[in-house]
Amino acid sequence: MGLLDVPGRTGEVAVVGLGRSGSAATRLIRAAGVEVYASDGGNGAGLEATAAALRALGADVQVGGHDLGRIAAARLVVLSPGVPPSAPPVQAARDAGVPIWAEAELGLRVLGDDLPYVAITGTNGKTTTTALVGQLLEAAGRRARTAGNIGTPLCEIALAAERPDVLAVELSSFQLHDMPTVRPTVGVLTNLAPDHLDRYPSLEDYYGDKLRMFANASADSFWITNGDDPESERWVPATRGRRRRFSTSGPADGWFDRTTTALRIGDVPVIDRAKFPLLGDHNVANALAAALAVHAIGVPVAAITAGLGRAAALKHRMEPIREVGGVLWLNDSKATNISSTEVAIAAMDRPFVLLLGGRHKGEPYTRLADRLGRCRAVIAYGEAKPLIVADLRGSVDVVEGGSFDDVMARAAGLARPGDAVLLSPACSSYDMFANYEERGARFRAIVEGM
Ligand code: ADP
Repeated sequence: MGLLDVPGRTGEVAVVGLGRSGSAATRLIRAAGVEVYASDGGNGAGLEATAAALRALGADVQVGGHDLGRIAAARLVVLSPGVPPSAPPVQAARDAGVPIWAEAELGLRVLGDDLPYVAITGTNGKTTTTALVGQLLEAAGRRARTAGNIGTPLCEIALAAERPDVLAVELSSFQLHDMPTVRPTVGVLTNLAPDHLDRYPSLEDYYGDKLRMFANASADSFWITNGDDPESERWVPATRGRRRRFSTSGPADGWFDRTTTALRIGDVPVIDRAKFPLLGDHNVANALAAALAVHAIGVPVAAITAGLGRAAALKHRMEPIREVGGVLWLNDSKATNISSTEVAIAAMDRPFVLLLGGRHKGEPYTRLADRLGRCRAVIAYGEAKPLIVADLRGSVDVVEGGSFDDVMARAAGLARPGDAVLLSPACSSYDMFANYEERGARFRAIVEGM
């Protein structure tokens, strides 16, 4: 049976969404000689160019909409990672009983069972941990690639001429929802916290998708979970394989020994905190998770020490831009939920002005109130402004901002030498920007122009 054969179903494969992932999936399916109908609801020159390139390979491509009837009649639907489970084409496929694979499922199937991979999921810290896993594998001389949500689609890795030895794969809950055969060599769950309440009917549904990572566990699987996170402790199933925990609060398989300031695997010191460049305890947790993951597949401690020592902050994640007049400007634009902003606040060791706002995602801001002891002022802006003001007034000075330029000017006016200005908005950016990258880039541009 071919990889794309589905028992009892014939005809074309439908690919939904034509970003980088959908486009790679379409090429991969065409490379297997199978008919494809690929569609995207969006418009624009970029999509038209993608469509033209895919048509040249024999794909039937539609932009600006989806033919739901055709999707319902397909043998299989392959979903781009950005497409939420509630999107009409997904619903059409589901209602018609068409099997649905995430793009990552297709890529991993084509890459085959014999390619080991570390899968990373969780609410926060996925990208950072995935990048760290990749760096640690490289420090050990493995031909490693990072893939999935972090950047390169799995289908692109599957199309590439050069085959890696091992992958670090970032998987979102949306992808895991449609990955029936996912079976990582090592699975990492960074943490579980409420998020995407705007897109999921309930917390159980959201957690449930993340926990699908464990569904095909076998005796030789490794599972790395967060010993400090009560939600993970509560929700992770007792499953086959070996479980290792990380903790920044006490002894564990991988842990932060605050007495000696060493990050340790068991008793063995891996690196001193001062030599690991990323800010905040949350990044210590990410480092420990990555260290345990690669250690499970044979990476020696010396390589982990070297790799962690060379780690650099990722863009838009507690990224120091520069100091201006003694004020440090920090870009944490990727913090799009309350728990990620919580950890950013916890990482602050000096007074700071906090830029909070954007499109509200469902959780109250009151959870931040107790943590704002060092916060000189919150500047609330964007669609969420009234909610932030209502939730935080009385706990901290809350200033109302207008445009993003106005927010930045107010921050510059409020911060004193020795302070930081932290953009960690706890909201999505879609009310004012195309995405969090654009928000962070705007922040950087303004700071660089000061
Ligand atoms: P993800 O890929 O899961 O969105 P990132 O690594 O991109 O995670 O980090 C996003 C934001 O989440 C960061 O800006 C930081 O504020 C926060 N964060 C990172 N790691 C953690 C963690 N281990 N626990 C909680 N929050 C984290």
